[in-house]
Amino acid sequence: MSAVRVHHPDTLDEATALLRDLDDALVYGGGTAISVLRAQGLLFAQDWVDIARVPGLADLTTTSDGLRIGALVPLRRMETDPQVRRLTPLAAQTYGRVAHPRVRNTATAGGNIAHGDYRLDPPTALAVLDATVHLTSAAGTREVSIREFFTGFQQTAVAHGELVTAITVPRQPERARGTYVKLRSLSENDWPCASAAVLAVPEDGFVDIRLGLGGLAPTTVYLAYDVTPDMDVEQAVDAAIDIADSAMDPIPDIRGSARYKARLGRIAVEEGLRHCLKELAG
Ligand SMILES: Cc1cc2nc3c(=O)[nH]c(=O)nc-3n(C[C@H](O)[C@H](O)[C@H](O)COP(=O)(O)OP(=O)(O)OC[C@H]3O[C@@H](n4cnc5c(N)ncnc54)[C@H](O)[C@@H]3O)c2cc1C
Repeated sequence: MSAVRVHHPDTLDEATALLRDLDDALVYGGGTAISVLRAQGLLFAQDWVDIARVPGLADLTTTSDGLRIGALVPLRRMETDPQVRRLTPLAAQTYGRVAHPRVRNTATAGGNIAHGDYRLDPPTALAVLDATVHLTSAAGTREVSIREFFTGFQQTAVAHGELVTAITVPRQPERARGTYVKLRSLSENDWPCASAAVLAVPEDGFVDIRLGLGGLAPTTVYLAYDVTPDMDVEQAVDAAIDIADSAMDPIPDIRGSARYKARLGRIAVEEGLRHCLKELAG
């Protein structure tokens, strides 16, 4: 395996120029995924663009309607920051469930979504919270809804020459109740076998139920449906399981067969929804 050339741009313009001009360059965020894939012989890019020196990418700020998370904000900060916990508690909970503190201290919010793995934890919560991904290239900037960001197995909307600069997340509606259920079949710190982020948002005359599923299809899945406030909890759970069933297409692997994962997926959805409805009933 030949040595990797690591570039250290000092500005966003330098970074995007490198990504435009180099044929097959990869952005280096926290390096947790990239290093493992290279060690496993699955990554062949010879140029890595380390964006650590680019100003502003590690900033986490509040906006008029929520949070702006710079691409280099570590996952551990997303878990522990008081503003994230206050404005988007579901996001804080979900970031706190990724792997273990060593990974969370190093891995970045931008690298997490750009990794594009269908089992990632945070995208499930970002989908139900309706986050937006901000992308920059030498040609300009654009925004993509996180719900459209994952385009296929290990594929994202990031085009050649682009990098993720930030993720914006609207404030979680105050009356909403959310939770993240992560079910593992190997070890406590492992990837999910099946996971579900659930958010129940009371609106005028109905409750908007939003589901983000992880590990249950080739990409993160986002689903939503409404229940009336007088709907029986059992009916609401049945409806959630029906809608989740129609979207699940699990990939069998060492964590379980497709059938086993689908069973765990139903359990994650049910557990999450029961929790949210119980909290709403208060
Ligand atoms: C032992 C272990 C356990 C893990 N367990 C989990 C888990 O339980 N749940 C989970 O969700 N994840 C898990 N991961 C996956 C993953 O490493 C992290 O989720 C992490 O967030 C990736 O972020 P990073 O900054 O380290 O990315 P990197 O490794 O730096 O990059 C990952 C990919 O994203 C690209 N990239 C990085 N930053 C940008 C950017 N700003 N713009 C465009 N592209 C970019 C890179 O080129 C690369 O393709 C695990 C990883 C390891 C090593």
